[in-house]
Amino acid sequence: MNKIDEITAGKAKSLFTTDNSDQLIMHFRDDTSAFDGKKKEALLGKGSVNNQFNAFIMDHLEAKGIATHHIEILNSTDSLVRKLEMFPIECVVRNRATGSICRRLGTEDGLILQAPLFEFFLKDDDLGDPLITEEHILSFGWAAAENIIEMKEITLKINEILSKLFLNSNLILVDFKVEFGLSDGKLFLADEFTPDGCRLWDTETLAKMDKDRFRQGLGDVVESYHQVADRLGMNIKLD
Ligand code: ADP
Ligand code: UDP
Repeated sequence: MNKIDEITAGKAKSLFTTDNSDQLIMHFRDDTSAFDGKKKEALLGKGSVNNQFNAFIMDHLEAKGIATHHIEILNSTDSLVRKLEMFPIECVVRNRATGSICRRLGTEDGLILQAPLFEFFLKDDDLGDPLITEEHILSFGWAAAENIIEMKEITLKINEILSKLFLNSNLILVDFKVEFGLSDGKLFLADEFTPDGCRLWDTETLAKMDKDRFRQGLGDVVESYHQVADRLGMNIKLD
């Protein structure tokens, strides 16, 4: 499968058409961004570890019954995915309060929540990805009612599956973001699941092993992603 035209160049990944009009190649770049694109850096080897990490997680989720866009990994930085019509929405689940919710609600950092908290955000960097409700999604027509219900159910299911997976490797899944899209009216998990889009803390030390290392200038970003991958038994190939 060959890349033909680049149709999307996001902040960290690029999408290419292929000779199959239903399939795209997702290329994971080393580019890393935070604060809605205001902080940017290329971190050597991040594209490679993220592509392989994502393929492992997507395969795990598929095995647990979640329909994902992932078809197959092609090489260290590229994967073949189903082409989707994306919702302009980010689905977030939090098990502990940290990041934007602490800024928004003045909550203690690291607070264990009584139940997993689901939130929708609008995917719009210029607006700083604002928190939105189901009512906003319906009124603005960003997704249909049945898709809203399904996105919420699947995201909470992903939280159950992956919280267990990470806990087995002494990692707390603090929170994460996922995106969904449609193909022929059917909902699929899209985009990626990597330490760029979730928070993972060591169960003993609460050390951060995710993109907060980049956001907060803690260093060893790619090294930490590799450590997480090693703990989960992923066999990440180095370029
Ligand atoms: P961002 O859009 O935040 O800058 P990326 O660099 O990760 O992020 O860009 C990847 C883009 O590809 C995102 O806009 C995402 O919504 C989109 N995307 C992810 N999976 C698919 C898919 N299967 N089909 C079409 N678009 C997708
Ligand atoms: N997240 C993401 N992309 C975004 C916003 C958030 O991947 O555009 C992830 C983030 O890595 C974290 C979770 O979603 O795992 C919740 O992020 P939060 O709302 O706390 O925002 P932040 O503090 O990262 O601005």
